[in-house]
Amino acid sequence: MPKTYYVTTSIPYANANPHIGFAMELIQADVLARYARQQGHEVIFSTGTDEHGSKIYEKAQENGVDPRDLTNEMSQTFRSLSDMIDISNNRFIRTTDEKHETGAQKIWEKLKKDIYKSTYEGLYCVGCEEFVTATTAKENNNICPHHQKPYQSLKEENYFFKLSAYAEKIQKAIEDNSFELLPASRRNEILRMIEGGLEDISVSRPSNKLPWGVPVPGDESQVMYVWFEALMNYITVLDFPDGADFSNYWPADVQVIGKDIIRFHTTIWPAMLLAIGADLPKKLYIHGFISIKNQKISKSIGNVVHPQEVIDIFGVDPLRYYLLRHIPSSSDGDFTWQALHNAYTNELANDLGNAVQRTAVMVNKYLDGSADNDSPTTHDTSAYHEALERCQFDRALEEVWKQARGLNQYIDEQQPWQVAKQDDREHLEQILQHQVASMLQIAELLEPLLPHTAKRIQEIFTADVIRPPETTLFPRVETDILPS
Ligand SMILES: [Zn+2]
Repeated sequence: MPKTYYVTTSIPYANANPHIGFAMELIQADVLARYARQQGHEVIFSTGTDEHGSKIYEKAQENGVDPRDLTNEMSQTFRSLSDMIDISNNRFIRTTDEKHETGAQKIWEKLKKDIYKSTYEGLYCVGCEEFVTATTAKENNNICPHHQKPYQSLKEENYFFKLSAYAEKIQKAIEDNSFELLPASRRNEILRMIEGGLEDISVSRPSNKLPWGVPVPGDESQVMYVWFEALMNYITVLDFPDGADFSNYWPADVQVIGKDIIRFHTTIWPAMLLAIGADLPKKLYIHGFISIKNQKISKSIGNVVHPQEVIDIFGVDPLRYYLLRHIPSSSDGDFTWQALHNAYTNELANDLGNAVQRTAVMVNKYLDGSADNDSPTTHDTSAYHEALERCQFDRALEEVWKQARGLNQYIDEQQPWQVAKQDDREHLEQILQHQVASMLQIAELLEPLLPHTAKRIQEIFTADVIRPPETTLFPRVETDILPS
């Protein structure tokens, strides 16, 4: 059996429309999935939607609809986003799927030795669906910084999970990189959070207050806390515990998440896995946030950029390109229409598009469209592969662009149009064959990152008769059609 590869995105909470930040997460995971397939691995690539909890329940009540109808609709918008940006996932898990709900209950049963009942008394933010400690509440003057709303005080009987029992083991796994955190720059901050010890956490809510959740097995009066249950999706989608997918694909090769959910994925999730005797994911890649013109994306500011808007003007691959290369893979980044336009014009159209166009035109003109493309190129690609192994998408594209620029420079220096005048056919063939081979190598490197573009380049240069494409790869985009 070929090597298996498992990559996940986080599952977004299905109470708002997806924005460009989640599009980036999907695209990053998609690159890893396509790259693994290119290496010959059998891949499971999973995404989905998180659909329980009080936010959804309250929103459904406000709108006078059944929470199930609301989540059906929201979940569909996330599926559409994946289709829109060419995401190659082959699993889509909804936490309201029966498979997930029964799987979550099986996991709960296995966690039972670490679960006990107690009274929770403290503060909670409904917006975050998160219990907060007294210290955190005090630091924030009792107002949730994410939602600008005071914390609610809660006193209720809950189940608790012995997170405290696992702090040391998690710390060790992070330190010895068996649970590798990427980018490495985030590692210390996370280790510091764990070194101080971890407190047990409440993992259920009374079902009379919140009926919209997965019932705790054997206790109908409680439903599982939404975060605790949502994390389980990564293995319920593999039919944990008895499914073949679980035994063949777990542990995940990479789990891709945003920096806002680091705590859940570096403490609660690994602790749950350790408690059920499962391995930790091999890598956890944490991306940063996208701002728009250096402002936080927010509905109230009205600066939300929807991926569809970008695609309508530039196409899918330019969106992928911008998010992969111009949002730094190891930190936060900024989106502006102008920066996107610059990248499109200078890098996609000028560097890459020109190399394609020039090479196709010259092979057509000087060699009647036929160049032997069996000659292998010898460009070193180790930096590119190393970058993708480390989820440095920006660096991987940088490496591809070095080759595209190098090819343009080669053409300028060799001046095939001069060689053609000198009637030295052999030399001319050598030059143009090198160009074609370089183009095909570039296409191969682009396959995981910009799949459409890679395919078009391959089609052009593996055709029986090589000719320039009828429409250029990156047609001119006028700046006056950009949204202001
Ligand atoms: Zn909040």
